[in-house]
Amino acid sequence: MSTPPKRFIAGAVCPACSRMDTIRSWHEDGVMHRECVECGYADSLDERGNSVPRELDTRVTPAAPKPADPQVQPVKFFVNPRLKKDADPQS
Ligand SMILES: [Zn+2]
Repeated sequence: MSTPPKRFIAGAVCPACSRMDTIRSWHEDGVMHRECVECGYADSLDERGNSVPRELDTRVTPAAPKPADPQVQPVKFFVNPRLKKDADPQS
């Protein structure tokens, strides 16, 4: 009773890589899990039979957020110089 047996689903097509007979399925805690041995795609089926995609942290690395492109930013260096005169030393 360590790991549930994983069975290949004959004729199943992976929704990610579109290959056939690469999907393995197993039940765990009453939830059906599927995984593709080719591309690593994995999802689970909830009690309603809806596919819940699951990310494998071993294979799928989240895309690093892109730094803001400086060329997109408008040049705003020339602000009104009067606004910077916040402290008048002569008063
Ligand atoms: Zn696949």
